[in-house]
Amino acid sequence: MSTHYQLIAVFPPQEISKKEVISYFHEKGILDSIPSNCLLASEKEGFRAGEFAKLLVEDEESIPTSGVCGVEFSDERQVATAGGNMELEEILCPVCEANQLEHGLDLGDFFERVGSWNEGENIAMTCASCKHESPMDSFSVNKGFCLTNFVITFWNWPSIKPSFIEELHVKFGLGFKHFSGMV
Ligand SMILES: [Zn+2]
Repeated sequence: MSTHYQLIAVFPPQEISKKEVISYFHEKGILDSIPSNCLLASEKEGFRAGEFAKLLVEDEESIPTSGVCGVEFSDERQVATAGGNMELEEILCPVCEANQLEHGLDLGDFFERVGSWNEGENIAMTCASCKHESPMDSFSVNKGFCLTNFVITFWNWPSIKPSFIEELHVKFGLGFKHFSGMV
C-alpha cells in the first residue's frame, strides 16, 4: 500500500519556532499532546490526531488513527517535494517573476545550486531576465517543490482545508505552501 502525505512548508524560509507551532496544535486540540510512534520513519516520534483534528479537514471520517497516521514537525533546511518524477514548470524570480525556464536556465546548474543550498550554503542566483541576484531560496518553484526551513507533514490525512493554511499565515505572519505527495 502506498503512503501519501501533505506538507505545509514555510516559504520563503523564515525564522519560526518549532516549539511554538507544536504548542499551537496542542492548545487547539488538533493533536494529541503525547508523542508516539506514528510516522513513516519508525525511529522518530510524531503526534496523532486529537479531539479537534476534524476542524482542519473536510472529511473527518477519514482521519487515520493507526499505523502511519501522525503529524511530523521538522525545522531543518530541506527541499520539500511531492515525490516521484516531478517536472518543474516554473522557477520564478522574486523580483520580476520571470519564469527562469523560459529564459534559458540550465536545470543541471539549478539542481547543483539546490544541492549546495541543501548542504547549508547561502547561495544566490541571478535572474536571467532582470539580472537581479536573489537568494536561491527566494525563487518560487511550481506547487510540489520548495526550499524551506520548516515543514509540517501529515501522514495519510485527508485534505486539509485552505482556511487552516490561512489561519497559520495569520497566526505566524509567514508564507506557507501546501501540497501533497506519495512515497
Ligand atoms: Zn527577475
